[in-house]
Parts: sequence; C-alpha cells; structure tokens
Amino acid sequence: MAYNGLVIRSTGSWYDVRDADGHIFQGRLKGKFKIKGLKVTNPIAVGDRVTFEVEDKAENTAIISDIAPRENYIIRQSVHKTAHGHILAANIDQAILLATLTLPRTSLGFIDRFLVSAESFRISTKVIFNKADILNDEGLAYQQEIMDMYERIGYQCLSTSATEGVGVDEFRQLLDHKVTLLSGHSGVGKSSLVNAIAPDLNLRTNEVSTFANKGVHTTTFAEMFELAPNTYIIDTPGIKELGLIDTSKEEISHYFPEMRERLNQCRFHNCLHINEPGCAIKDAVAEGEIAESRYLSYLSMVEGGDNRR
Ligand code: GDP
Ligand code: ZN
Repeated sequence: MAYNGLVIRSTGSWYDVRDADGHIFQGRLKGKFKIKGLKVTNPIAVGDRVTFEVEDKAENTAIISDIAPRENYIIRQSVHKTAHGHILAANIDQAILLATLTLPRTSLGFIDRFLVSAESFRISTKVIFNKADILNDEGLAYQQEIMDMYERIGYQCLSTSATEGVGVDEFRQLLDHKVTLLSGHSGVGKSSLVNAIAPDLNLRTNEVSTFANKGVHTTTFAEMFELAPNTYIIDTPGIKELGLIDTSKEEISHYFPEMRERLNQCRFHNCLHINEPGCAIKDAVAEGEIAESRYLSYLSMVEGGDNRR
C-alpha cells in the first residue's frame, strides 16, 4: 500500500520520511530518479513530498517510489559553475534571513546576495536583525535606516533580541503555518531565536567563540524541524551561501526588485547599468531612489565573475 510522506531529513542515501500521522520511516529510493533539465547530485531533498511503501514495519523502513512536482527548490551552488548542483531543500514557502549588524557583522553585500539568490529561486524573503539589545542608540538608528531601506524595496524586516525576548512573538507569527528556510551566518542567533519559541526542540546553540571555527559543521544536508502543526523550519547548517538558478549577467538586475521595475526605462534593452548612457538605474542611484549599497552589491555580482556564463 502506498502512503504520502514528507522528507524531513536526508543523508544522501537514506531519507527520513514523515507520514500524515507523524510517524517517521527510514526511506530508500527504488531505482534511479532523473529530474528533467536539471543536473543535480541528489534526487530528493528535505521538503520533498513523496510516495512510499512500508518495507519493514518493525524496522520502520520504507521504499520511496515517487516524488511530487516541486513548487520551488534551492541549490547549493550555481549550476553552470560545476555543471552539477546540490538540491538543499524543496517546497519552501518563505526564507527568513537572520542578520546581526555586530557580533558577528552581517555585511549588506551578504544580505543582498542572499536576497538575489532567493529571488532567483522565487522564494519570498524577510530579514530579521537580531541582537538589538547590544546596539547603542547610534547602532539602533543605523539598524532602523537599513530596515527602512529593505522595507522600501519590499522585504519585510523585524528587529529582535532572542536573549531579551524582544520580537519573539512576531517571529513566531511569521513562521505560523509555513515552511521557512531559516538562514544566516553562524552565531547570529538562529538556534536561540528558535529555542525561544520552541524550547522543546532544543536546537544546539553555539558560543560566539566557535563561529570562527569553520570546521564545526561539515554536513551539507538540510534538516527540517516541526515547530507546530504545519509549521516547519529548514536549517542548512554549514551552508554559507545559496546558489543562483542559471543566471547571466543581464539577468541579475531582474533579481533586484527596485531595478526590475525600472529596467524598461533604460535607453538600451541590454543595459548592464554600468556606464551606458541613458541608464535609468544609474539615474535612480544618483537621485537616491536606489540605495548606493544595493547598487554596489549589484556591481560586485555583475563584475564578480561568479555568475557569468
Ligand atoms: P546560531 O549559530 O545562529 O544558531 O547562533 P546561536 O543561537 O547559537 O547564538 C550564538 C550566540 O549569540 C550565543 O552565545 C547566544 O547566546 C548569543 N545570542 C543569540 N541571540 C542573542 C541576542 O539577541 N542578544 C545577544 N546579546 N546575544 C544573543
Ligand atoms: Zn541601465
């Protein structure tokens, strides 16, 4: 008999599959799965909806026979860089990027690269600035400026302090009834914030002193945690940056919403917004309508080489 399940953990050869009653089976694949038009090293990822049959009831093993079409998915690296990507997770409702302006400092460049990746995967993103408690008045004013800047572009922002319990209820509401990819540098407080709303889960928290130790996380597999009914977070330990879906230089500005809406005002349809005459993007930067930091992030992505074909 075939059942439907949700993949909540993957080790590469085994998949933890949760059925409708919350029972978890260790699943294996039957035969080879090929995904059309996508070169990936793993056929199934966390968040995949699958069909399976129970293999051994006592051992809780199962055979996965089918994967439902994906709403979306995220990959670890640019597909054309190595020709093969690694699917981290599928069927994500939203991403939340957790950032801190200090200890550790999340750069605006990092935030922008994350937002561009998420746009390319068609995943809406919210940005949370944690550790508000350690900012002085000047720091708080700067954080507000940054939040206003991202809100104007359309990214909802929230200021929190996991340790002081500030913004924790709002965080819980953002997650409610969604599958959320929770990302951010190690040490920004992801575990602390999740523990604040779901203490039973007891995610391991890192001391700040360990985040410099890049060897701590070696896994490249995502994990999915159920916080409440139909409320999941996906954690991708050790993953520094997401990839981009196959993107050319010309396409990068499409993933900046404030540029996307002005693209048809540039004189040249293939304008790269670097030194072309009649460029609406450069005009908007000069007039302060597009943030300088966003434009600099754009330039580094176009000129950086990483995303070139
Ligand atoms: P993760 O690596 O993103 O999961 O970060 P952790 O949750 O492990 O937090 C890293 C360190 O930052 C721990 O020592 C936490 O106690 C501390 N921390 C987390 N949130 C806050 C906060 O809002 N304010 C302050 N001052 N420290 C925090
Ligand atoms: Zn232009």
